[in-house]
Amino acid sequence: MRCPFCGNMDTKVIDSRLAGEGMQVRRRRECVACADRFTTYESAELVMPHIIKSDGTREPFNEEKLLTGVLRALEKRPVNTESVEAGISRIQHRLQACGEREIPSRQLGEWVMDELRNLDQVAYVRFASVYRSFQDVSEFRDEIERLEQGPTPEEKRDQMPLLPDEEENTPDA
Ligand SMILES: [Zn+2]
Repeated sequence: MRCPFCGNMDTKVIDSRLAGEGMQVRRRRECVACADRFTTYESAELVMPHIIKSDGTREPFNEEKLLTGVLRALEKRPVNTESVEAGISRIQHRLQACGEREIPSRQLGEWVMDELRNLDQVAYVRFASVYRSFQDVSEFRDEIERLEQGPTPEEKRDQMPLLPDEEENTPDA
């Protein structure tokens, strides 16, 4: 980068270390022309994208709104809080990792459905029927049939390896 003192194009890094509890890289640089020194900090830019609603308007991502929607779908369903929280944080991770400034609410809805499908099928169908607004009854029936053919979340849990640590390290499917 340019030297902030003389504007020379070439500077060299003379020291580099972690800062901000490992969340930043601090670099000490020296200008090859005027030999003045300065410091730069590098950190990851994690921005929550805005959500584009179906009517085209944009709104900031709202965690509480997401949680409310998920909990409404899960009402009176036997799913523990820990699993719900894990699902919510996976959705937030996907939002941050997508690198977009804005994403359609439909995309967010699909990610919510991915989580609900694994948590509880009744909740999934509740959410999907509202969110995806199935084109017609047959499309809805197809989705139900697809669910009935696959293993239930309970069955999937039984099939999971008995090494929770290992499983947690597996990247999202
Ligand atoms: Zn300089």
